[in-house]
Amino acid sequence: MATTKYSIFSVMREALRGHTGWRPAWRNPEPKKAYDIIIVGGGGHGLATAYYLAKEFNQSRIAVIEKGWIGGGNVGRNTTIVRSNYLLPGNIPFYELSMKLWEGLEQDINYNAMVSQRGVLNLYHSDGQRDAFARRGNAMRLHGVDAELLDKAAVKSLVPFLDFDNARFPIHGGLLQRRGGTVRHDAVAWGYARAADLRGVDIIQNCEVTDISREGGKIIGVETSRGFIGAQKVGVAVAGNSSRVMAMAGLRLPIESHVLQAFVSESIKPFVDGVVTFGAGHFYISQSDKGGLVFGGDLDGYNSYAQRGNLPVVEDVCEGGMALMPRIGRVRLLRQWGGIMDMSMDGSPIIDRTPIDGLFFNGGWCYGGFKATPASGFCFAHLIAKNTVHPAASAYRLDRFATGHTIDEKGMGPHPNLH
Ligand SMILES: Cc1cc2nc3c(=O)[nH]c(=O)nc-3n(C[C@H](O)[C@H](O)[C@H](O)COP(=O)(O)OP(=O)(O)OC[C@H]3O[C@@H](n4cnc5c(N)ncnc54)[C@H](O)[C@@H]3O)c2cc1C
Repeated sequence: MATTKYSIFSVMREALRGHTGWRPAWRNPEPKKAYDIIIVGGGGHGLATAYYLAKEFNQSRIAVIEKGWIGGGNVGRNTTIVRSNYLLPGNIPFYELSMKLWEGLEQDINYNAMVSQRGVLNLYHSDGQRDAFARRGNAMRLHGVDAELLDKAAVKSLVPFLDFDNARFPIHGGLLQRRGGTVRHDAVAWGYARAADLRGVDIIQNCEVTDISREGGKIIGVETSRGFIGAQKVGVAVAGNSSRVMAMAGLRLPIESHVLQAFVSESIKPFVDGVVTFGAGHFYISQSDKGGLVFGGDLDGYNSYAQRGNLPVVEDVCEGGMALMPRIGRVRLLRQWGGIMDMSMDGSPIIDRTPIDGLFFNGGWCYGGFKATPASGFCFAHLIAKNTVHPAASAYRLDRFATGHTIDEKGMGPHPNLH
């Protein structure tokens, strides 16, 4: 069944006939016997990869194989923040490419992903932290990325509701990236899925990859819960399940899986205009277009594949929230959930070939992979189609862990739970 073309005319036509004519946003095809390229994982990264493979790199006979449903993984569980306020040379060009792709995404895929550049403000609470943010802002500006270092008065005019004179964590200022903001997470999954489907990509849901099939060191396809599907190339983009899926090919990754929780309050009148992050603890907050306060904090701190967290981190996040903006204590919590993060040893991602001919890997996104979705898909598609690394992702090689060229953005060392 053909999908409906979205335009002002289709919206008006459907309004007049009681919205009875909308078709599903993408097809629900049976898996074919074989494809040229299979992408394992129908999250944001897998779908974006399939879309750019078809659109930018003229590839065809592509399938995305998803064990659950589109939007059921981290792409639909994150707190929707996008930004490119990184410090290290390996990271800034990549995340800035992503930001530029976000800026044109809705036109590109003809889908309202609610890209909202409402600003991301990182607060500082000490002189040392101010100097570190000044350094970060300078690094960003040297790469042509927008950054502004604000003093206390400037921050106060933006977010007057914070507790500026908290005795333990007084707010001295902040680093602002105005082009950062939020994007409606599940609309990103749906938009990329629809756009990929329109270019002929088969999106196969409820189909779990159970083995990666090889012959003579070369990929020949994947075993799935719906049978064997042949492929010349397989790209794995399964986020929190990276270690499990790559183990099917006999590969061990420098990645651990950890739980990260998020929280949404009841809807209240708009008062948090942008994204604000606390600099003295792990707490960040924004307000959704429906009015809910969306916030989160640290990892739960133990390895898990369960998409739910535990009370100690709920308490820790609430304490962070109370220290930053005590009025949050009067808001009722509506929902809370968890997702599985693919935490790499240096906190930076991997987009690379593997030692197996035809097998490519994309993962290690830690808790920052949503903002990376467009650039990750673009660079992974470039790698799969051309077999060469995209310049913006040239630092994200697997062998950096063997050669010592890690990209330790946070300076935390080889401790995945601290990145
Ligand atoms: C609570 C929370 C808050 C976050 N906040 C932010 C944020 O504000 N900003 C930001 O940039 N990032 C954030 N992140 C991180 C971000 O969501 C992830 O890094 C990113 O979504 C991961 O990529 P993905 O979308 O492809 O993952 P997913 O959506 O998880 O996609 C992977 C898919 O692979 C599928 N899969 C797994 N195994 C198999 C298999 N064997 N066969 C077939 N399919 C399989 C899964 O079902 C899943 O759908 C947050 C994450 C969480 C959980």
